[in-house]
Amino acid sequence: MDSQKSDETLTVSGLQLDISLLEYRARPCSLTCAAPCCWGAAAARRDKIEKIQTTLPEIMPLLRPASARVIARKGFYCAQATHRSDFQPEEEPHWLRIVDGYCVFYNDALIGGHCALHAYCVQRGLPVLSLKPQVCYLFPISKPVNHWVTVRRWNELPCLRPTNGEEALPVYLAYRSELESLLGEKGYEDVLRGWVSRS
Ligand code: SF4
Repeated sequence: MDSQKSDETLTVSGLQLDISLLEYRARPCSLTCAAPCCWGAAAARRDKIEKIQTTLPEIMPLLRPASARVIARKGFYCAQATHRSDFQPEEEPHWLRIVDGYCVFYNDALIGGHCALHAYCVQRGLPVLSLKPQVCYLFPISKPVNHWVTVRRWNELPCLRPTNGEEALPVYLAYRSELESLLGEKGYEDVLRGWVSRS
């Protein structure tokens, strides 16, 4: 098995998975909860910003009218790159703009998921990660920082409420495809071998 285990971490594909991925329980993201992970928006790598920019004319019909107006005036992201510990400097992350308290790409009129980037990818049969920022796609799993992967413990979110009961699974099971995007299918199988007997 291409993994190493301690009481607190499992090392797979060069990433250290925190024990919280096993011990913390969540239910899969509904993409419709209107909760704080889409308030205040997200940061995206420069190359993702450029991909969104290229696709923007096709995404515009999926946006709230207020977002479309802001984008027409100022664009969808803040011009100055930001500094965040979960991005490498060369990734040049930029904040997406906020409109009426929500990310510019948030639209609660969309059926099946309130992120216009996600909806666009699903409609076109594209991998969601081709446009959606990685921090959003992985949530509530954190983007790796110094090879460390853990769970963001925002108990107020519907997916993470301790009252979710039997609907909730250990995060590494509830968010399988998200972890596979980091570890690959083989890496994820190593996670299963490392933790499935303990959950
Ligand atoms: S890009 Fe999508 S998932 Fe990320 S904050 Fe904006 S609306 Fe939410």
